Amino acid sequence: MNPFLELGIRHEVVNAISELGFEKPSPIQEKAIPVLLTGNDDFVGLAQTGTGKTAAFGLPLLEQLDFSQKHPQALVLCPTRELCLQIAKDLQNFAKYIDNVHVVAVYGGANISDQLRQIRRGVQIVVATPGRMLDIIGRNAIDFSNVKYVVLDEADEMLNMGFQEDINNILSETPDEKKTWLFSATMPREVRRIAQKYMNDPFELTVGTKNTGNANIEHHYYLIKAKDKYAAFKRIVDSNPDIFGIVFCRTKIETQDIAEALIKDGYNADSLHGDLSQQQRDKVMKRYRDRSLQLLIATDVAARGIDVNDVTHVINFSLPDEVENYTHRSGRTARAGKTGISLSLVNVKELSKIRHIEKIIGKPFEKKQVPQGAEVCEKQLFSIVKKIENVEVNDEQIAPFLPAIMENLESLSKEDIIKRFASLEFNRFLDYYKNAPDLNIEAREGSREDRGDRRDGRSREGSKGYTRLFMNLGSVDEFTRGDMLGFICNNANISGKSIGKIDLKGVFTFFEVQDAEVEKVFQGFQGVDYNGRQVRIEVSGEGRGEGRGGDRGRSRGARRDGGYRSDRGGRRDGGFSGERRDRGERRDRGGNGGGFRDFSGRRKESKSKY
Ligand code: ADP
Repeated sequence: MNPFLELGIRHEVVNAISELGFEKPSPIQEKAIPVLLTGNDDFVGLAQTGTGKTAAFGLPLLEQLDFSQKHPQALVLCPTRELCLQIAKDLQNFAKYIDNVHVVAVYGGANISDQLRQIRRGVQIVVATPGRMLDIIGRNAIDFSNVKYVVLDEADEMLNMGFQEDINNILSETPDEKKTWLFSATMPREVRRIAQKYMNDPFELTVGTKNTGNANIEHHYYLIKAKDKYAAFKRIVDSNPDIFGIVFCRTKIETQDIAEALIKDGYNADSLHGDLSQQQRDKVMKRYRDRSLQLLIATDVAARGIDVNDVTHVINFSLPDEVENYTHRSGRTARAGKTGISLSLVNVKELSKIRHIEKIIGKPFEKKQVPQGAEVCEKQLFSIVKKIENVEVNDEQIAPFLPAIMENLESLSKEDIIKRFASLEFNRFLDYYKNAPDLNIEAREGSREDRGDRRDGRSREGSKGYTRLFMNLGSVDEFTRGDMLGFICNNANISGKSIGKIDLKGVFTFFEVQDAEVEKVFQGFQGVDYNGRQVRIEVSGEGRGEGRGGDRGRSRGARRDGGYRSDRGGRRDGGFSGERRDRGERRDRGGNGGGFRDFSGRRKESKSKY
């Protein structure tokens, strides 16, 4: 039996949500729906954005309203126009197979007479932003005397935006017996106060830990000098060619500056901020949703309520002034059970803010290194190779030109042609990143960061007592660091403790081995093939290894997936040895609940991400 039916949702609604792809309730839905269906209690639900709150309150509402009547019975208040439209649309979709359901979205910045007309025609559910709602109440254009349920969605956001007074005034228009359902991602004092003031012994539900960020979000930070921020940001973007991100700035001016600089530098970017007219904002949002924009540069206020799935990265170009806002920003990624990365560019002075945010989200940040110029080039190169591999060829249309093309390229070998095609775009990056400096800085001596990252700091030379080796397999062969550790240990028959830093690159890897065990590694890998390719080990710096990518051509030829998805996916549990866990970057690739390989033929299953 469908789990939503079991919860008490009627067939018509279950059919509609099945069409939307809802197979089983999300945790907040599973817990909230039975409580809200009784209709007896006030309710406080603490959950992050993207956890499915709309259905958590929307489905119970649909069960309890009387749609034969045409007066307002439920009022949903939310902070932004975007969210308002989204909730109204979701409710309409859920109610697709129920007759006579009327939902109106009431929000500022749009023609009020249309909204008034809809209200006059008769509605049961009003979804509204507080300002416009008050305006309509002020015109005596709505009768709330039959309202049974008031939902305060993203209550913390509404208070952040200064709607406290408006909410008070609106609530005073509704009957005392109504039930109030409050949802919030965080529980600051002000929200607590609202709960105390307007609710009667509410049923409280927390999904995840209070104030905790979504577990599917990885939090990274990059430590750089303030003056290098834009350059570092570009490197990160360039080394994630498939990025679909929201970039947060503190001020309108900053959003505009960054967007302009990015556009000038050839990126698909635009800005979203409060100075834009509603029409301009809609246009930008449409382009972002359609993915003609890859980067949306936004202020906190403008980005509130943005509900776009598949955002891969939230980039805190500037950390928010209010630490609480960090949770809202990062909640724009990893929606609907997906994974995502929230990254912050910080200077030494801002480190304390990162520590503060860690406390609030209850999760540590991972310190990441800004990619070196050469690494960015490598990522771009493979992105180009992947594009060439996957491009759709329209045989019919290209056929008439082929003879001439062939003739022109006749003198070139296949290898030359490949090189030239790849270079078309790649040269731009090579030029740009030629002589690009290292942008990373280390925190002060003896500080927590310094201790934490010592192992990273020694990556170039190889540590005392260790030899740095090169191997011609890397992340494009679908290795994570954990995989690589297992691969080395299994073949060389040595313990994980003998391995030092593993520096996994695209088509090759550097790793440190205790001097005493080096010979075993050479012995162990003699004659070993991986996917039909001979595994080659060299002492780093000898042969062609250190000059970045000895044997790249051969390795590239043997790539199986042609993809560079290393920044997605995001599992970080499990591993070969506990000691290694805290060194970061233990990631499975390819997302969808896959496990990581442990080279003993088993696949460990990952936990369901809901
Ligand atoms: P919130 O209100 O908590 O920010 P939403 O209600 O907007 O989150 O839900 C986030 C996304 O997850 C939406 O795209 C929604 O359609 C989807 N979703 C919600 N519940 C489920 C479910 N049970 N199964 C699959 N997808 C869901």
